[in-house]
Amino acid sequence: MQHPGNLFVVAAPSGAGKSSLVKALRSFDARVYPSVSHTTRAPRGQEKHGREYFFASEQEFDAMVANSAFIEWANVHGKRYGTSKKGIQDRLSTGEDVLLEIDYQGALQVRESFPQAVLIFVLPPSWDELRARLENRGEDAPDVIALRMKNAEVEMAQVGKFDFVIINELFESALFDLKAIIHAQRLKYVSQRRLRADVFESLNLS
Ligand code: 5GP
Repeated sequence: MQHPGNLFVVAAPSGAGKSSLVKALRSFDARVYPSVSHTTRAPRGQEKHGREYFFASEQEFDAMVANSAFIEWANVHGKRYGTSKKGIQDRLSTGEDVLLEIDYQGALQVRESFPQAVLIFVLPPSWDELRARLENRGEDAPDVIALRMKNAEVEMAQVGKFDFVIINELFESALFDLKAIIHAQRLKYVSQRRLRADVFESLNLS
């Protein structure tokens, strides 16, 4: 299905810095609407229902799956996560840009229903650095870190299926890369034709 808005999908293994990058992007670029996912995991820390996630029971999630309410959903680290259709299609059809911060399985599912989606993968610069970041977060026990490292191997093996790769070695440089991808997308003919119709008309370009 073609929509005038751009759909950006950012995936990365846990610890690569995806959330920080997306958060920083949002502070510069209010034109990107971040989708809020549903999940069956419990809220952590200060997380609020409807802000970080819509926290759903297993039954609620099952009902949404049965009603085809998700664009995509996947099992990630033993819990279910999904992007609801509601809101996203409307935003894209009115020309807004939407950004999904989801895992690689979900990203590849999104491409099936939105072939024009822009898939971006964030890589850490090395295994040592990924481990150091997971340890320095101080959020997870050693066995959880070991599991995340193991999962990262499976996740990163999918990088070749993405359109763009950002290596998050220096945060500022990775943020520049993310902004550049989004900016380039907005400079494509179809976007410019729509966003700057006045210029095209004044130049008598059809
Ligand atoms: P966390 O529980 O740490 O917030 O997220 C765990 C993983 O689930 C992250 O990789 C995150 O990007 C992914 N995730 C969050 N929302 C969704 C979603 O709607 N769909 C999919 N497939 N993955 C998601």
